[in-house]
Amino acid sequence: MKILIVEDEKLLAESIRDLLAARGFQAEAVHDGETGAAYGELGVYDLIILDVMLPGLDGRQVARRLREKRCGTPVLMLTARSGLEDRIEGLDAGADYYLTKPFDARELLACVNALLRRQGGQVDELRWGDASLDLAAGMLGCGERQVRLSAREFGVMRELMRAGARHVSKEALLEKVWGFESNAVENHVEVYVGFLRKKLRSIGSTVRIEAVRRLGYHLEAEA
Ligand code: CA
Repeated sequence: MKILIVEDEKLLAESIRDLLAARGFQAEAVHDGETGAAYGELGVYDLIILDVMLPGLDGRQVARRLREKRCGTPVLMLTARSGLEDRIEGLDAGADYYLTKPFDARELLACVNALLRRQGGQVDELRWGDASLDLAAGMLGCGERQVRLSAREFGVMRELMRAGARHVSKEALLEKVWGFESNAVENHVEVYVGFLRKKLRSIGSTVRIEAVRRLGYHLEAEA
């Protein structure tokens, strides 16, 4: 996933770039509106993070120019102002979402993920039925409810969600979550599956971890 950052505050641009790079995104930063528009028009980016107050063309003019050139890349607009008029103007100009400065890293990542998800892009979240697993934060969620997982619970849930309806054997879980060197035995897997079942219930999820003798575990969800 390639992300363009158009932000004249260089320190902020760098910190956003580092944050995105740490999540596996390819991020590039430019520092004025003209360059931002020229890069954006190339159409090679999956998302553009665009500051409003920029030297040369401002963010709204950049967004408008991109839309005029039929560039459909989603635009996340950053602004220090949060008045309703500003938001409406930004959205009218072609921004998909508005984030008011100062924002925190999690807020930015959530917006980036939401916009990329709309594009069908790679996100750091797995979903099965009504449950979601945030791979960055280690949170298991269902609707608005979330619960934090321990490292082992997270590892087991991740493997189960990746497999979905397919079976994952206890041996495979031991190997992937505990590692070859560990003294853990299959009983450990059963204990952690028990914890996960409780947590799924605690957030009101309909996802169930089903056990099938000799085959292992798989997920089931109510339609
Ligand atoms: Ca600025």
